[in-house]
Amino acid sequence: MRFDIVTIFPGFFDSVFAQGIVRRAQTEGLVEIRLHDLRNFTHDRHRTVDDRPFGGGEGMVLKPEPLAEALTSLGVVAKAPGAQARSASTRVILLSAQGKVFTQAVARELAALERVVLVCGRYEGVDERVNELYCDMELSIGDYVLSGGEPAAAVVVDATMRLIPGVLGNEASGEFESFGAADAEIDIDVEGVPRSQHGAGGLLDYPHYTRPAEFGGLETPQVLMNGDHAQIRRWRREQQLKKTLENRPELLERAALSAEDRRMLEALRK
Ligand code: SAH
Repeated sequence: MRFDIVTIFPGFFDSVFAQGIVRRAQTEGLVEIRLHDLRNFTHDRHRTVDDRPFGGGEGMVLKPEPLAEALTSLGVVAKAPGAQARSASTRVILLSAQGKVFTQAVARELAALERVVLVCGRYEGVDERVNELYCDMELSIGDYVLSGGEPAAAVVVDATMRLIPGVLGNEASGEFESFGAADAEIDIDVEGVPRSQHGAGGLLDYPHYTRPAEFGGLETPQVLMNGDHAQIRRWRREQQLKKTLENRPELLERAALSAEDRRMLEALRK
């Protein structure tokens, strides 16, 4: 099985993958891990990978172009918005605090694939169009915010590769430990704790966009371009509700929702 990791800190993985089972799986040829430095796909003198967020707010956003170029170099092509996974044997995964929760059941699904491509975010996250155009799924390793996707990618690689037949060798078989095969159905039904981010009241983050305004045939939502802060706030709140409804509906039960939130939610459910 092959893992490709796109990151601005390839050195992060030096020790992580040089020990124990992960190391042995590689020397035995059961697992191949390739690291791809995002800055190699920039073309300016400063090797710029980030830019300021459209619509304002704190932090920086990973620009779409270097990521698109990196993924293209890996043979990952842009897909029609909303299309299903591109290939039965490959998954392109965006590590994201807004993703579905990575569980043992997900690890088991991934271990059956030939190739997993992992995209590590940094700063406030990744331009949403990279997610829409290139990624098959968003995965979170839990309800907390890391400073980057690298530790999450290491977790996903570790949990997944040890389920590949032959990797565990004489050590205990994955079948009989916590979250073994019998637990497969309990997949995404995980006890969710609303994380606090940007005073969002336990909701997931909204999508981020940076330059260029149009990318891969997708426009940045018009509302972010007109400088109307009240409108932007309302749109973002709505997007938060939409993402949360889509990805983590159980969080809505405990989220602090205003009357307007409830109206938006009603509309989204229809
Ligand atoms: N603004 C985002 C947090 C960005 S943290 C939010 O509030 O949701 C920067 C990067 O770290 C993300 O792009 C993602 O790649 C990674 N990251 C942070 N927390 C993560 C988690 N729980 N699981 C997987 N990746 C995570």
